[in-house]
Amino acid sequence: METVIDGLHKIAVPTPFLVGRVNVYLVEGPTLTLVDTGPNSGTSLDSLDRSVTSLGFDLDDIGEVVLTHQHVDHVGLARIVANRSGAPVTMPAALGPYLADWNHSADLDDEMAASVMKTNGLDGRVTQAVKQVARAYRAFGATVDAGRLISDGDSITIGSIEMTAYSRPGHSPTDTIFVCDETGLMIGGDHLLPKVSSNPVLSRVMASDGNTDTLERFQSLPAYIESLKKTREMTLGTVLPGHGDAFDDHVKLIDERLAMTDDRMEKMLASLSDGPLTALEVAGHIWGAVAAAQPFLTFSEVIGHMDILKEQNLVEETSPDNQGVIRFIQL
Ligand SMILES: [Zn+2]
Repeated sequence: METVIDGLHKIAVPTPFLVGRVNVYLVEGPTLTLVDTGPNSGTSLDSLDRSVTSLGFDLDDIGEVVLTHQHVDHVGLARIVANRSGAPVTMPAALGPYLADWNHSADLDDEMAASVMKTNGLDGRVTQAVKQVARAYRAFGATVDAGRLISDGDSITIGSIEMTAYSRPGHSPTDTIFVCDETGLMIGGDHLLPKVSSNPVLSRVMASDGNTDTLERFQSLPAYIESLKKTREMTLGTVLPGHGDAFDDHVKLIDERLAMTDDRMEKMLASLSDGPLTALEVAGHIWGAVAAAQPFLTFSEVIGHMDILKEQNLVEETSPDNQGVIRFIQL
């Protein structure tokens, strides 16, 4: 726990995930507001509860919950906190229909991810195993009803801070940042993280019009780069990220992330110089054994970079072979 500025407290809630703790922010004001919640687990709830209490409040005092994006480490406890406190849950518009039926949304997410991994070279049995792991993680999320739905450019008061919400799709389709109009203080979710790159993970397209049943894949990395460039142009103060410590100088960090993407893109392009490869094989070139151990993340990376290389006409996809597997060719 750490008071970042007067009346704004960071609580690092434990998660069972590789990323470690997730930061949620308790912001004092006429309406005590909690930004993000932690995953749906007893350990996380207990930790959140104790932190809120030691700050002199009670979970029941929370008057509004605000969510930054769709990932379970950020939204999983929203229902329990909302039920206990009666607080409405404010969220990005596209998140409303998605969280209205978490189990159904997660079914479709898993189905899309499995089909992408299979067509990109992952063995059917491994794909099934990955799907089962995803299913086990599902319990860390939960259905929750939306209160207010927010869109790009909307004003929002968080605690006593007047902020503006900006859509920054990429890391996930629903990523939203909140920026204080006066000081440039940004509550950023996972849009920009100080220690780790915000993997733009395989996701389905999310439509705020309520059509959430599509299995169409969201072009996460191209969207992420566009979003980073938008944020780079902003005058910001301190950034409060979803994981890790607060930081200043967002421009420097964004430039590092953009350079890293260019570097990876070059490596992946070079891996194709000896002939067509599947995404799985490209991942093997770049990450070796990690590619097999972390297929979801490494696939997300390779497919994201291939989306950009295809956009730049540097790479093309083959049509599926008799196994239904596609390969990438350098042009
Ligand atoms: Zn996330």
